[in-house]
Amino acid sequence: MIIAIDGPSGAGKSTLGKMLAKNLGLLYLDTGAMYRAVGLAVAKSGTSFENQDEIIEIARHSKIELIGEPDSLEVKLDGKDISAEIRTNEAGQAASIVSTISEVRKILVRHQRKLGENAPHGCVLDGRDIGTIVFPNADVKFFLTAKPEARARRRYEEERARGRVSTYEETLTEINLRDERDVSRADSPLSIAADAIVVDTSELDLTEVYELMLEKINSDER
Ligand code: C5P
Repeated sequence: MIIAIDGPSGAGKSTLGKMLAKNLGLLYLDTGAMYRAVGLAVAKSGTSFENQDEIIEIARHSKIELIGEPDSLEVKLDGKDISAEIRTNEAGQAASIVSTISEVRKILVRHQRKLGENAPHGCVLDGRDIGTIVFPNADVKFFLTAKPEARARRRYEEERARGRVSTYEETLTEINLRDERDVSRADSPLSIAADAIVVDTSELDLTEVYELMLEKINSDER
């Protein structure tokens, strides 16, 4: 079974994706972490974010691994744990820049399909293009969204819990900038698949969204 979860930043995709994967015994694939890993690799190499050829080479030669259970997922870049490093605003912006390059997307989409297809019991993937490009035949597709202020509030709380110092306003600006880039890029812009179930999570708590999603998955299984 393949479950696709798409939507803008901070809509709850990763929290809910992890909960579903854990409880249904499926692999959880955080595709945003892969774009963040490439963004970080580019930043570390000192390459300019304008240099597309060099960025493609970096994406091609970087070994990105997602290891462990959904709750304690470890992201590795060339064998080194970068799980914490990829969660900064800077890594998010770097990810959104490298993700506009078609060849980078091709490399990562290939990787994601392989991991999803080889998962013994199936996979939950969260991203921006899962239901439209990566797995257009996914069994269930969700598009989670929420008002920008609600999404920024959640991101801000998450960052604070991790000890980061960004203000709410900075987080809101960062989210708006990244969303704008994600919806307006030429290749695989953030869009709602025709057969996706759209859930606005602004006014719902986590349990309500989780139950709604589970109900939909079970009703589709028949
Ligand atoms: O989901 P997350 O916020 O970690 O993703 C970081 C960035 O990676 C997004 O803003 C987007 O630009 C890019 N991304 C993408 N396609 C995906 C997942 C993430 O373009 N499937």
